Amino acid sequence: MMTIKTANLGFPRLGKDRVWKKTIEQYWSNEIDNHTLNTQLNVIHKDNLQVQASYDLDSVPVGDFSLYDHILDTALLFNIIPERFSGRPIDDDLLFDIARGNKENVASALLKWFNTNYHYIVPEWDTATPQLNADQLLRKVKLAKSLNIQSHAVVVGPVTFVALSKGGSQSEEEKIQSLLPLYTELFNVLNEQGVTYIQVDEPILATDKAEAYYDITKTAYTHFNTHVPEAKLVIQTYFERVNLSFVRDLPVYGLGLDFVHDHGFNLKQIEEEQWPSDKVLYAGIIDGRNVWASDIEERKNLVEKLQNYVKDIVLQPSASLLHVPLSFEQETIDEKIREGLSFATEKLNELNALKKLFNDNDDTLYNALKEKYIRFSNQPFKQKTFDFDSVPAQRNTPFAERKLKQQNRLHLPELPTTTIGSFPQTKEVRKNRADYRKGRKDQAAYEAFIEAEIKRWIEIQERIGLDVFVHGEFERNDMVEFFGEQLEGFLVTQYGWVQSYGSRAVKPPVIYGDVYWTKPLTVKETVYAQSLTDKPVKGMLTGPVTILNWSFERVDIPKTEVQNQIALAIRAEVEALETAGIKIIQVDEPALREGLPLHQSYHAQYLKDAVHSFKLATSSVKDETQIHTHMCYSQFGKIIHAIKALDADVISIETSRSHGDLIKDFESITYNLGIGLGVYDIHSPRIPTEEEITTAINRALKEIDRSLFWVNPDCGLKTRKEEEVVAALTTLVSAVQKLRNIQEVAV
Ligand code: GLN
Ligand code: ZN
Repeated sequence: MMTIKTANLGFPRLGKDRVWKKTIEQYWSNEIDNHTLNTQLNVIHKDNLQVQASYDLDSVPVGDFSLYDHILDTALLFNIIPERFSGRPIDDDLLFDIARGNKENVASALLKWFNTNYHYIVPEWDTATPQLNADQLLRKVKLAKSLNIQSHAVVVGPVTFVALSKGGSQSEEEKIQSLLPLYTELFNVLNEQGVTYIQVDEPILATDKAEAYYDITKTAYTHFNTHVPEAKLVIQTYFERVNLSFVRDLPVYGLGLDFVHDHGFNLKQIEEEQWPSDKVLYAGIIDGRNVWASDIEERKNLVEKLQNYVKDIVLQPSASLLHVPLSFEQETIDEKIREGLSFATEKLNELNALKKLFNDNDDTLYNALKEKYIRFSNQPFKQKTFDFDSVPAQRNTPFAERKLKQQNRLHLPELPTTTIGSFPQTKEVRKNRADYRKGRKDQAAYEAFIEAEIKRWIEIQERIGLDVFVHGEFERNDMVEFFGEQLEGFLVTQYGWVQSYGSRAVKPPVIYGDVYWTKPLTVKETVYAQSLTDKPVKGMLTGPVTILNWSFERVDIPKTEVQNQIALAIRAEVEALETAGIKIIQVDEPALREGLPLHQSYHAQYLKDAVHSFKLATSSVKDETQIHTHMCYSQFGKIIHAIKALDADVISIETSRSHGDLIKDFESITYNLGIGLGVYDIHSPRIPTEEEITTAINRALKEIDRSLFWVNPDCGLKTRKEEEVVAALTTLVSAVQKLRNIQEVAV
C-alpha cells in the first residue's frame, strides 16, 4: 500500500485577531507606509505558512495569500489591467485602486465566488496586453523556501480566470489562447524554483458551464504538457462534482476532487470508471466550507474505499480553507459545543490524524477525534423533534381579498412610499451597542439611547411624509447575527471571522443545535416606534432562507429541516408582532437568489423548499395583516416564479442598477401582488433628482399595475449619512406626490 500524503489548498488570510485586515486598513488610512505594510504582511504570511506546516502537511500552498483577492492577483500576474488604470507600475497601490477605486476612477466590480459568500474582483480585459508579472508570486515561493517549508505554488487556471473575466473584444477562447505562453513561462520559472507541484485551480470545471470549455481546456493543458512537461500540474476542482470521463484524460500530474460537496458523484464515478493509473488523486475529504468536525470514522472508510481504485492519494480539504475561520483556540464557549467544531487549523489536524492512522498505525489522535464526534452527535440540543407537516403554510384567502381588508385597515394612498428597514448606523449608534456589549453601559442607558434614536427617526419620517414607517434597526449589528444571538440553537462566536471581500470580514453565526423561539426578539422596539405615530410601522425580520444562508449550518440533519426550524422560530415572532398590534410585517430574504445551488438540476427543489419555509414563517397571520418581503442583488429572471409563489402581499426589490432587465423579468409572468421597485441606488452617496425618480416610476408603471405599485429605495439605508437619507427621501416623496396629483387630474 502506498503511503498517504496530505496537503492544503489555501488558508485564511485574516490571521489571528484579523491582523491582516487591520494592517491593510492602516495602510489605506496612511498610518503606515508601504515598506511597513510589506514587512508586517510578511510576518503574517510566515505565520500562516508555519502554522500549516506544523500539522505535518506534505505540502503547504503558497500563492493563495493575498493583499486583497486571488483573482485580482491573477489579473495583475498576467497584466489584465482595466484600461482606466493602465500605464501605471504594477504595485500595491495599483492593486488597491482597482479593488477600491480612487478619486478619478471607479473600482472594478465584485462578484460572488461560485456559491460561497466570498467575493472576487472581476478582471476587465478592455485593451489589456497580457504579459507576465511574476515577481509577487515568486517572492511568496521564496519565502516558503527560506523557512524550509515543503510547498507547492497555487495559481488560478486559465479557463476559470477567463470565465470569470469580462470586457475586451476577443472571444473567451482567444483570451485563453493568449495566456497559454505566459502560463507556460510561469510554470517554467516555478519549476526552476524547485516547487514540488503546481496547484492550478479550475473550479469552473465543477459547474454546469464546464462542458462549454472542454475543448479549450484540453487545448490548454495539452499545450502545457508539450511545452513544460517537467512541471507537475494538479488541476483542482471543488464545490461540486466534476465529469471524470473528461478530466481523466487531461495530461496532468494530478486531479483534485471534492468528496464533500459533490452529492456523492465523485466517488460513484471513480467506482464506475477507471481512475487513470498515471494520476495522483488529491482527495478533498474534509469539509473546507463549514465549521464542523468531521465524522472521522466515516472519512476513514471513504479513504479505504478510494484505495481500492487509486494507488496514489493525497488527502486535503474539499476547498481552500479561506471560507472558514482560523482556529477556535481563543473562543470561550461551552465545551459541549466546542467538541463539535473544527476551524481551519483543526481541519489540518484531522488530516494529520488520518495520515498517522494509515501510515504509522498510530490511532491516538484518530480515536480522540472519533470520541469527540460521537459525544457531540448525541448531545440533547440536537434531539428535538419537529412536526413540520402539520403546520399549515398557506394564507387563508387569496391576495385580492386580503388586499381589500388590508386597505380598509391601513388607508394607504396610491403609490405608497416606504423604506427597506435600516436607517444610518452612525458612529454613536455603533458605539452605543459596543459599550453595552462590553459592559461599559448598563441596559437602561443602552435602551434609552435606542429609544431616543427611534423617536428621532419617527419624527424625521413624519416630516418627510412617508406613508409606511420603520423603526430603523439601531439595535442590530447585522440582520442575521441579531437573530442568531437570540434564538436557541445558534452560537455567535467571538473570533469566527471569514473574509467576505477585500479587508471586509463577516462572522456568520453557527447553528449547532435545534433552532427555536423562546422570547420576543423585536416586539419591544417595534411597538415603541408604533406608539409614537399614527402611520403604520413595519415590523422587520430576517427570513429563514437568508438566516440559513448567511450562517454556518448544521450538516447532521437535512438542510431543509434546519431551514424549517428557523421558519417556525420566525413564525413565532411574526405572531408576537401581530398580537402586539403591528399591522405590517416585513420578512427580508435578500439571500434567496444567491443560495441557488451550483447545478441547475437542484434549482427546482431548492426553490420549492425556500418558498415553503418562507410561507411557514409568514402565513399564519390574519388577512388584515400585510406581509412584506425584500430582496436585493437583482438577476431575478430564473427565480421569478418562486418569488410570486412566496405569496407576500408586497415585495420590494433592488433594481436601480439593472432597471430594464428586472422589469422584463416581471413581464414574463403576470405578477399580480404588491411590488415596490427600488427607484434609486442607495449604494452611492449621490442624491437622486426628482426627475430620475419620476422616470424610474413611470417606466415601471408601464409594466406594473398602478394599484399594486409601491415606491421605495433599493435597499436598507444603514450605510448612508443622515443628510443623504433625508434629502433622497424628501425628493422621493415629492416626486410621488406630483404623480398622484396628475392621476387625480386625469380622472
Ligand atoms: N431590512 C434590512 C435593512 O434595511 C435589509 C437589508 C438587506 O436587504 N440586505 O438593512
Ligand atoms: Zn436589500
